[in-house]
Order: sequence, then C-alpha cells, then structure tokens
Amino acid sequence: MDDDTLLAEQLAYYRAGADEYDRPYVQYPELRRLLTAVDDLPVAGDVLELACGTGQWTPLLAARARSVTAVDAAPEALALARRRTTGADVRFVEADLFAWRPPRRYDTVFFAFWLSHVPPRRLPAFWDFVADALAPGGRAVFVDDGPAGAAYEDVLAGAPVPAAVRRLDDGSRHRIVKVFHDARTLTADLSARGWSARIRTVAGHYIGVAEPPEAG
Ligand code: SAM
Repeated sequence: MDDDTLLAEQLAYYRAGADEYDRPYVQYPELRRLLTAVDDLPVAGDVLELACGTGQWTPLLAARARSVTAVDAAPEALALARRRTTGADVRFVEADLFAWRPPRRYDTVFFAFWLSHVPPRRLPAFWDFVADALAPGGRAVFVDDGPAGAAYEDVLAGAPVPAAVRRLDDGSRHRIVKVFHDARTLTADLSARGWSARIRTVAGHYIGVAEPPEAG
C-alpha cells in the first residue's frame, strides 16, 4: 500500500461520505466548542483554507477575514460548503492539494483535520507548500486530532503509512491516512524546519499557530 493508493482511497471516502460528514459536529459538543476557538486565533486578511470539506470552519473564517479561498478535492463536499457560506466572500477551488499551487500569497493559511491526512513522507513538502503560500508576516493556523483521537479510530496495525479504516452508512470500508501528531513533537519538528510554532492541546485536539522561516 503506497501513499498514492491510500490518498486515492481517502479522497474516495470523503467524496462518497460527504452527506454523512457533518454528523460528528452535531453529535459531539466538544467539536462544536472547538469551532469557537477560531474567535481567539490570529485569522486575518486574505485566508487560504486547505481541505475545507463541507465548510464547517469556512463561515467562521469568513467572519474574521477580508476574503477566503477554500480548497478541497471533493466536489460533493464543496457543494455543501457553498450552501453553508452563502453571502460570505468565499471563493471555492476544487483541487488536489498534493498537486495544486496557489496563484498568490495569503495572510493566513488555515487547515482543520487535514494535517493528520498528510502521509509523513510528504510532510516536508507540505510545510514548504504552506510557507510558499504565506505572504510576509503571514501565519499558518491549524487544528487536528492529537494522540487521544486514536481511541476513536479503527487504526490499521502494521500499515507502512499510519492509516485507519472508516466505514460509511452503506457498509463500505475505506482506508485513510491518519497520523496522530502530538503537540510537543510537532512543535519540535516545525522548529527543526525553521518554523516558529505554538501548539496547544485542547480536549484531545491540538491547535497550532506557526510562522514560517524567514525567506532567505
Ligand atoms: N476541514 C474540514 C473540517 O475540518 O471539517 C474537512 C476536513 S476532512 C477530515 C478532510 C477533507 O480533505 C475532506 O473534505 C476531503 O475531501 C479533503 N481531501 C482529501 N484528499 C484531498 C486532496 N488530495 N486534496 C484536497 N482535499 C482533499
């Protein structure tokens, strides 16, 4: 099982399950509380949102931003996100984040529940992509599952890439990449790459704010 196979299955899962995606946001109050964290985060200016999904975070970002460009590869999720953000200054882009390059730079690059889906081998390129997408003085702001999240996943033992199995209502099973970063290791990894990061743990999730290395 290589990265490409797993990433294709992962996207197929999110496309097929777009209509089921919002359920945890309804079921789990801690996820709704996490959404309110945006209010205290340095989200400002022109915002690029990576893997926006059904747009749970998008209107909250739009309320703080001058503009939002929200990217996702699943048209089914983008259709739901569009409905959720009517009236806000949001531009949606359907694109594969492992191939897409932004046409401009942004003050904030935001991603929720995306970092855990990036295979470890692709993390250096991913962080370089985020750095390149940031305007001078810009920041990356991100939210995801910490190690405690593993208790709620069907983790695939022995997989060459950290992975889990998700099920949809029709009984289908899909493998996804799932890396449970912990705040301390992620902070150290980012520092080693020249980023300056502050990452805190909140109810099993982590919330990070990071500035890229200064362009030399
Ligand atoms: N950010 C949203 C949230 O927090 O609710 C959605 C996160 S969801 C866990 C992951 C998202 O990544 C899905 O919407 C899926 O369509 C998207 N995705 C999967 N593979 C992708 C790819 N290669 N490029 C862009 N988006 C992708």
